Amino acid sequence: MTSRKRHTKFIFVTGGVVSSIGKGISAASIAAIMEARGLKVTLQKLDPYLNVDPGTMNPFQHGEVFVTDDGAETDLDLGHYERFTTTTMGKVNNVTSGQVYEAVLSRERRGDYLGGTVQVIPHITDEIKTRILAAADGVDILVAEVGGTIGDIEGLPHLEAIRQMRLDVGRENTLYVHVTYVPYIRTAGELKSKPTQHSVKGLREIGIQPDIIICRTERAMPPEVKRKISLFCNVPPEGVVSAMDVPSVYEIPLAFHEEGLDARITDLLNIWARDTDLSDWKRIVNALKKPTGPEVTIAIVGKYVDLQESYKSLNEALLHGGLSAKCKVNLNFVEAEDLEKTDDCGPFLNGADGVLVPGGFGTRGTEGKIRAIQFAREKKVPFLGICLGLQLAIIESARNVCGLNKANSTEFNDKTPYPVIDIMPAQREVTEKGATMRLGAFEAELTEGSLVAGLYGRLNISERHRHRYEVDNKLLPRLLEGGMVVSGVYTGEWANGNDTLPDGREGLVEVIEIPGHPFFLGSQFHPEYKSRPRSPHPIFAGFVAAALKLRKIRDKKRKSRKKK
Ligand code: GLN
Repeated sequence: MTSRKRHTKFIFVTGGVVSSIGKGISAASIAAIMEARGLKVTLQKLDPYLNVDPGTMNPFQHGEVFVTDDGAETDLDLGHYERFTTTTMGKVNNVTSGQVYEAVLSRERRGDYLGGTVQVIPHITDEIKTRILAAADGVDILVAEVGGTIGDIEGLPHLEAIRQMRLDVGRENTLYVHVTYVPYIRTAGELKSKPTQHSVKGLREIGIQPDIIICRTERAMPPEVKRKISLFCNVPPEGVVSAMDVPSVYEIPLAFHEEGLDARITDLLNIWARDTDLSDWKRIVNALKKPTGPEVTIAIVGKYVDLQESYKSLNEALLHGGLSAKCKVNLNFVEAEDLEKTDDCGPFLNGADGVLVPGGFGTRGTEGKIRAIQFAREKKVPFLGICLGLQLAIIESARNVCGLNKANSTEFNDKTPYPVIDIMPAQREVTEKGATMRLGAFEAELTEGSLVAGLYGRLNISERHRHRYEVDNKLLPRLLEGGMVVSGVYTGEWANGNDTLPDGREGLVEVIEIPGHPFFLGSQFHPEYKSRPRSPHPIFAGFVAAALKLRKIRDKKRKSRKKK
């Protein structure tokens, strides 16, 4: 085992009773309040499933795939970790059982364990611990969250590994936080502590005694329930933290602080830290609670509309855009396929002050999204297209502006006469699906004087990608005749062997826009991954500001019509 950096403290977060109670947000909020005390923090997600990464999982099952700068396709909790702290996540911050077993088994095949039996304990648990230590490099505190719920069979090796960590690095350097659910039973009119007791019993059976229990509840937890949980779970009352539902997740660091959680953690871990400075979070929560001015509505035309988890970072980035533009942003999810069944998008999109087409894969819904883009272009409604959204905006202009009939992406129709979107040269020979897309952060050069350059306030940017297809440069000159401009390009390694851009360089289109339209922007990258409440992304800030401008014009018109 690698040796531990001397001063790193480890906070392990587990979940009990049920899933989806905000364990990831709790872990992120713990890191936020520790960072607010001047400590250097980082986070890690230990995912017990056997996929090597979530990149190949359906967003219906797994929610959004979050992409890091270094090109890892990770759990969406890493998005929360970045949004709640100043950290930048990477490959080391998401460990899955798939990666752990893959590493151990490839060592076994190589003969590293010759003569020995390879076992869950110690080989798998050692590999998990090595990865925990690798993520803790150079920080004061690592908050490591174990995915799943106590009682899951597949989570056991991870729980065993974190149990051993206390033995390895000492009691004063480890803390176990258990996040549970305390349900309100309407017929009895009471909050019930029993599921928490059972969950903690399960943890203790495998050798982990929690130091802190965070109780997620719908209603305020009366002192007697706290006392009961304290007594039955063997945790002092100060260690039982009530975490009631709040309107915005960004209130949770404040709520945890109110409950004395940061003080409790610094006591238990024997850390000297400065007073908590949560002023940023207070400012954000205030702005969310008391928005000034009109509210804007953004229509998100996608195909996972029932599951907002699939567009987690996007939804957050729009909210951050509202923080920057100082307005409340309402999200209206429009099922793309509904737009295919109608000739008139009006009833679906008339109320929207902005139209957004997010990233996506596969044919379903694409024609509906193209209709939405046409609507936004023609009616001069602010439009933002992200990744697939940019590709479909190109297709829409090719068909409806440039007369390239049946133009399409070869992802959806490989027989199209005008393949305006085609597979990247670097992708042609790729057969394996996992982690083979163009992934992670790449630089782009922006055109001086363009909308996008104005938003960023600079000409060189770095943004995260996740795609296999790109704009076909051969057909680009025809497209540009229609009035669209390319305002961001990439000319690095991934462009090798590609057709040249109109300026003669091998490159990939990164940003397109339509001058003269109030706001029509498409990006091949995903700006939403880098937006944070404390630093809203310039593209989202600009998009929401454009939507707000339209809203104000519309409100004015409505008022003057009323007067008449
Ligand atoms: N399906 C498209 C591609 O692979 C777009 C991907 C995306 O939107 N992330 O290029």
